[in-house]
Amino acid sequence: MTGAAQRIAVIGGGITGLAAAHAALSHDGGHEVVLFEASDRVGGKILTSPFAGHAAIDEGPDAFLARLPWGSALARAVGLGDQLVSPAVSRAAVWWDALHPIPEGLLLGLPTEVLALARSPLLTWGGKLRAATEPLRPHTSPAPDSLGAFVRARFGDQVHLRLVDPLVGSIYAADTDHFSLAAIPQIAELANSARSVLLAGRKARARSVAATGPIFYAPVGGMGTLTSATAAAVSAAGGDIRIHAPVDELAADGRGWRVNGERFDSVILACPAATAARLLSSAAPDAAQAIATIPTAEVAIVSLAVLATEWPRGRFGLSGYLVPKPKQQLVTAVSFGSQKWAHWGGVNSVLRVSLGRDGLPVLHLSDEQLTAAAIDELSGHFGYALQPTDVRISRWPGAFPQYRPHHADLVAMATRALPEGLTLAGASYHGIGVPACIRSGELAAARAAGRGAASSGGALTE
Ligand SMILES: Cc1cc2nc3c(=O)[nH]c(=O)nc-3n(C[C@H](O)[C@H](O)[C@H](O)COP(=O)(O)OP(=O)(O)OC[C@H]3O[C@@H](n4cnc5c(N)ncnc54)[C@H](O)[C@@H]3O)c2cc1C
Repeated sequence: MTGAAQRIAVIGGGITGLAAAHAALSHDGGHEVVLFEASDRVGGKILTSPFAGHAAIDEGPDAFLARLPWGSALARAVGLGDQLVSPAVSRAAVWWDALHPIPEGLLLGLPTEVLALARSPLLTWGGKLRAATEPLRPHTSPAPDSLGAFVRARFGDQVHLRLVDPLVGSIYAADTDHFSLAAIPQIAELANSARSVLLAGRKARARSVAATGPIFYAPVGGMGTLTSATAAAVSAAGGDIRIHAPVDELAADGRGWRVNGERFDSVILACPAATAARLLSSAAPDAAQAIATIPTAEVAIVSLAVLATEWPRGRFGLSGYLVPKPKQQLVTAVSFGSQKWAHWGGVNSVLRVSLGRDGLPVLHLSDEQLTAAAIDELSGHFGYALQPTDVRISRWPGAFPQYRPHHADLVAMATRALPEGLTLAGASYHGIGVPACIRSGELAAARAAGRGAASSGGALTE
């Protein structure tokens, strides 16, 4: 059913807010959309800029998961369908006194193939034996909602510290001991559905290997082209995107809401949870209180360019590597950008170095200190003095929301406490990856656009 035209405010112009605005305008009903963005550009955590002679090197995310449909669907909808490329190499390594390629047969770090694990020097024989006995261990039901506690109980400390924590930790900048198991659906399903995680994981992995197509996509012009093309599509559809427009007022106004003095029927809060909590403090104090407790981890990305001729050939074939906590100083992961992305090749090879995570703050350090840490630590790992020709520091405060144990309950509680017409969306709630953010924005738009239909008897779409 098509309802009355709605006036919809979107707060935040990251990928979530842009996807929400785009979706709201594509719903029937002639809805009016105003997107408020506090900063001087849209994109939020997505930012692509020139570096070291390359036209477009990402400062934040450099790809999105292809096996979730929402990223590529949005890319196609905004005209980037024929510009999606995939990494040329996808195998990564773990630094444990040397670079060890990640063993075959892992599912987000969980072993599913005992033989492949046995062949890897990354674990000691004791660690391998402990992992191999997982099927003999009694099932704990329900599994504890801590990813780290779950993995250690099933597979032992080495699988946790050398595989799962670095792999999952690098995706979420997380300390997996304080991260919700339920927030990683692939692992949570194994934890809750089968006695042996290893055996159930083998089936799940076989299904994912059988699935054809690339694992990651990125627009060839960088992730920034996804947000700029979405913004262009929003404007072309009549949406009003306002930059330099921080929202500092959200108040009830009859059946609608007042945002910075203007009346709207619905408001989508696509800004980080801490900002949403501040804006909701009068309108929805219980929801505000709940989401104010969602912490974030800060990171810095140090991009380094080295002369391609000086890049050691032995490292070809790897997309990068992860540094497990016991071996970490500040660097948590290194992406060999020019190996991963064929179009980042040329005279200069680009490395993207991630520093910081939950429990390891780095943004108090100066640019010089961050640069020195990246160069010194990588030189130690490689065994020779790295001499970059260019350096770029990208600072990301509040970069990664941390999903603490029972995060889903907290979000459900906050959602229930929201008055009609207000919706939370974005990385703080139902997944931090770009496709999950897009999905969250699109669901919020369906809810907002459906409000007129609901008030005239129609159902909300979820
Ligand atoms: C370094 C890094 C690497 C990453 N790598 C990947 C990756 O490879 N693949 C992947 O899928 N994901 C990755 N992610 C995660 C993903 O990029 C983010 O989770 C996602 O982009 C967040 O989008 P968002 O729109 O929810 O939030 P944001 O991008 O944070 O956008 C929120 C927007 O709200 C605005 N805002 C804040 N307050 C106000 C206000 N009062 N009024 C108006 N506007 C306001 C902000 O300025 C911002 O533009 C990475 C993240 C980082 C930081």
